[in-house]
Amino acid sequence: MKKDWFEKELEKYSKLVGYKKPEKYSNVIKLDSNENYVVSQEFLQKMINEVKENIDVREYPLGGTERLSQSISKYMGIPREMIGVGNGSDQIIDLILSTFASKGTKILTSDPTFGFFEERCKLYSIRTLKIPFDKNMTLDLEKFLLNSKKADILYLDMPNNPTGFQFQRKDLEKLIREFKGLVIIDEAYVEFSDYSIVEMTKKINNLIVLRTLSKSFGLAGLRVGYLVANSKIIDTFTRVIQYPYPLNTLAIEIGIVALRQSKYFTDIADLVKKERLRIIINLKQMKIFEVFDSKANFVLFSAGGSGQRIHKALIEQGISIKNLGKIGQHEGCLRVTVGSQDMNSKFLTAIRDLLN
Ligand SMILES: *Cc1c(COP(=O)(O)O)cnc(C)c1O
Repeated sequence: MKKDWFEKELEKYSKLVGYKKPEKYSNVIKLDSNENYVVSQEFLQKMINEVKENIDVREYPLGGTERLSQSISKYMGIPREMIGVGNGSDQIIDLILSTFASKGTKILTSDPTFGFFEERCKLYSIRTLKIPFDKNMTLDLEKFLLNSKKADILYLDMPNNPTGFQFQRKDLEKLIREFKGLVIIDEAYVEFSDYSIVEMTKKINNLIVLRTLSKSFGLAGLRVGYLVANSKIIDTFTRVIQYPYPLNTLAIEIGIVALRQSKYFTDIADLVKKERLRIIINLKQMKIFEVFDSKANFVLFSAGGSGQRIHKALIEQGISIKNLGKIGQHEGCLRVTVGSQDMNSKFLTAIRDLLN
């Protein structure tokens, strides 16, 4: 091997952008990362305090992820042998890609798709075939079906981040059934939508469904994700691919307690859906934005040439939303997370004031 091989390799990787985390502002209303501020901080704090008394961090969390999988199994009504866990679904995505994809692999996905997923494909030099969103910010099933034979892996975040789009159930089911390679459906936002295809994992052997506690459970800082798939995939994932101790003791135990209280989080998701509709209606009433329907805990809207200016002006008002620029045929796209009622009202008031 040549002496300077490492320098060359490092040089190549250093040119990649990597996943761009949002700016960290202090004292702002944070509606830029699809976190869930409707979940009460006191409620979570109480859970953490309860757990804290009963753990021993001198020990490796032996048997911990198995108990967490058991809790997820109960919450989902899916057998435990069909569930694996990870340090956020990000880590699961990374492990699946680094194990099953290589430089020759081609992945069919949407444009845009989950940013982290795209960056990981670049890191591993995995080629992607991206189907763009059309002008009403929806995806065309036929285009996916037509291209499905050209790809080894299908990855779709459903609902999609950042558009909020979700296929009609029968369309997504058809696409999953027809795709011959590995299918990965990322359901990070599914609790805010009308349906999940997770039950299909019981019949379809090349399907992996990704889920997380980051969004509907408001536990983004805990880093708990999971996957649902047939027992052969899960056995291989858990025994061979996943680290021996991917989650820390605190995350495991808090996760278990949170899943036991799933009714609380289902009610939160209902509130989020109501607030999402209120945001959509109000933004539409302002008559200058194109506002897209959403099945997730955020709303995408296009502000044309004013996107940049509105984003900046909101920051100055202490409100941070996500500036996405051009998506498909729409300039100046902005994505606002659905926050608590109070946060949403402040956002709507601020944006209304800006327009006056
Ligand atoms: C937020 C998000 C995730 C969650 O990732 P975690 O690592 O579990 O926090 C996964 N997929 C998509 C599309 C997301 O937007």
